Amino acid sequence: MSDADTEPDPLLPCPAWSTGIHPSKEPYLGDRFHESRPVALEVRTGLVEVECETSIVQYPLRSRPEKRRVYADAHMMAAVTMHRPCDVMAFADMLTGYASRLRELADELVIAPQQDRARFEAEKLAGQER
Ligand SMILES: [Zn+2]
Repeated sequence: MSDADTEPDPLLPCPAWSTGIHPSKEPYLGDRFHESRPVALEVRTGLVEVECETSIVQYPLRSRPEKRRVYADAHMMAAVTMHRPCDVMAFADMLTGYASRLRELADELVIAPQQDRARFEAEKLAGQER
């Protein structure tokens, strides 16, 4: 067993919003990150192809503090063909539903950096006491 197998994972403990699942095959440790469960919208029905995923992300092992900030990351892909007004309305409803879930994620993004700062301060304090 090598030292890498016995050393504690520097990403642990996870912040409350993290899924706890981190990519482990990255060759460069700094690229590992915390990620929340994504707010996802996925519709594939012939004429409608929509994929939206938004999650809270943090790269806590980056050396520069500004690169360690907690932020929201969104990926979107949409290709929608709508022939009838009701199709457009259904599409609008779908996006409205997604928008309200994004507002909930925005609320989480208010709390996550506060928790991160509190945690950083606690770790700093613990480091001074050693
Ligand atoms: Zn995590």
